[in-house]
Amino acid sequence: MTSHFDAVTDRRQSKKCTYSQSDVLMSAFACMYFQQPSLLHFQRKMQEGRHKNNCRTLFGIEKIPQDSQLREVLDNIPSDLLAPVFKDFFGRLRRHKHLEDYAILPNVLMCSIDGTQYYSSKKIHCEHCLHKEHKTGEKTYSHAVLQGAIMHPDKKQVIPVMPEPIQNSEPAVKVSPLKEKQDCETKAAKRFIERLKSTYPRQRFLICGDGLMSHQPLINEVLAKDMHYIFVCKPGDHKYLFEWLNDYPELPSLEITDKKGRTHQYRWQNKVPLHGQADAILVNYFEHKIINSQGKVTSTYSWVTDIEINEKNIIKMVKAGRCRWKIENECFNTLKNQGYHLEHNYGHGKEYLSYNMYLLTLLAFYCHQIFELTDKAYQACRKRYGSKQSLWETLRVTIQFFIFNSWEAMLSFLLMTNDEQDEFIKKM
Ligand SMILES: [Zn+2]
Repeated sequence: MTSHFDAVTDRRQSKKCTYSQSDVLMSAFACMYFQQPSLLHFQRKMQEGRHKNNCRTLFGIEKIPQDSQLREVLDNIPSDLLAPVFKDFFGRLRRHKHLEDYAILPNVLMCSIDGTQYYSSKKIHCEHCLHKEHKTGEKTYSHAVLQGAIMHPDKKQVIPVMPEPIQNSEPAVKVSPLKEKQDCETKAAKRFIERLKSTYPRQRFLICGDGLMSHQPLINEVLAKDMHYIFVCKPGDHKYLFEWLNDYPELPSLEITDKKGRTHQYRWQNKVPLHGQADAILVNYFEHKIINSQGKVTSTYSWVTDIEINEKNIIKMVKAGRCRWKIENECFNTLKNQGYHLEHNYGHGKEYLSYNMYLLTLLAFYCHQIFELTDKAYQACRKRYGSKQSLWETLRVTIQFFIFNSWEAMLSFLLMTNDEQDEFIKKM
């Protein structure tokens, strides 16, 4: 990580700086990595008492910055400068063949996209904030991103890519005295797809998105970038398409009964017009219904795609479409509820602070996903300490008392027997 953060251009006048920009980035990253906002405070204390600390040994931080300076410096680093870190992590995973298991079709990776909000306030705001006026006249300001992550139905880990901010680029355009045209998820999706293509020009993707995405301009954008898509398609948003489907006496279908006695009904129809206008593109429709043993339909899912559906691929396609929940579950929920404190208010800043905090949190999460995929010692620790939470709880306590020269040394300490740990501590 240090080499990445050293590479981020420092726009400050060097004489006035107490802390290096790399130390600032790494310090914020370290807090997210250990999911501990008070990490720097404890390690500063350790430095005072023992003249060394884990921030230096584990993260190469020369001098731990004070919180106020940390915020100030981070606020001035343009967020796009962090994009190469995502690209580099991806490149390493690919070179070490960890992405091969993620191919959803030969040489195609599935990238699910979804919007999430990471900052919200009733008072503090900037010209880029999205805003919503309530009936009471009160306003809520927020920042959000369109996040993308590579995933596969059979893999628990998701691999995030650089998100696209959902924010107003200039003061929002006034359409009428009351209404303003603001940035939104679908506009951000278009920019996200352009960025994904230019970052990974030789990689083919299948973009998976919710019902907001199943409209012609975005589908055309995806196809123009030589990508595939699976977008949710609901009857309420696509009346014409569903009427068209109803005109068929029968759709091709497949039925399977599972161990719980539920029936899975799969139906599909290729080359259906997306809407009723003359220029409508043709899409391939497919759906999945779950019917319980009493004959009641308990869930219905439906999508459109450019991939031709047949009896051989229908189940795989449904699995791919349904795996989209992972971006919500494995990515956003983890960031928000599992100790990453994503919605903890780190502050809005004037320029880039809140977005940089989001990106550093995402990078910490990315590192942890990489460990789960590739690091044998980490995997052994996960087994030994049960849940991810209890492992990180143990790690946080451990670094408050002991100083380790490396991440590997720390993990091997956790994997020692009690006697070995006693011996190790005596030698410290
Ligand atoms: Zn703002």
